[in-house]
Amino acid sequence: MTGRSVPGRGLFKGLVVTLTTMFKTIFLPRRHLATVNYPKVKETPVPRARGVIALDQEACTVCMLCARSCPDWCIYIEGHKEEIPPDKPGGRIKVRAKLDRFDIDYALCMYCGICVEVCPFDALFWSPEYEYSEPKMGAMMHDMDRLQDWLKTVPEQPGLEK
Ligand code: SF4
Ligand code: SF4
Repeated sequence: MTGRSVPGRGLFKGLVVTLTTMFKTIFLPRRHLATVNYPKVKETPVPRARGVIALDQEACTVCMLCARSCPDWCIYIEGHKEEIPPDKPGGRIKVRAKLDRFDIDYALCMYCGICVEVCPFDALFWSPEYEYSEPKMGAMMHDMDRLQDWLKTVPEQPGLEK
């Protein structure tokens, strides 16, 4: 047999939570609060926070592994091959892949980090930067120059343990 519920009990409990939080917000010092008054106050994210993905264009070999592994299909890559002349006469001509396009659509990205994990050439990095919201969904597409710009916000990698 289930106990009879008191009418209005849920409403009363909700009001207690609301009033307690309201008084805490007014009277407690800011450091005791669980939230901050964003955007007036900004939190410093932890160094390994998944904010935005940065691209090192020079390191990318256009192997497409990240785009093929992305579960949301939100990485768009195009490239071409170019020949590099030999270092010395009679040497072999080298062929290098160059990026023409590398876009990430953050309106689709679910921040799983698979692309960063699978890149065999260390061309993708997480930056803790999180302030890139846009009023229009279309503007959430970051092209390769914008992704390269995020590189300066990537924190230094911690040194290896001895
Ligand atoms: S974090 Fe995940 S969803 Fe976002 S681009 Fe990388 S693989 Fe795709
Ligand atoms: S996996 Fe790395 S090297 Fe390959 S296309 Fe993606 S970013 Fe470039």
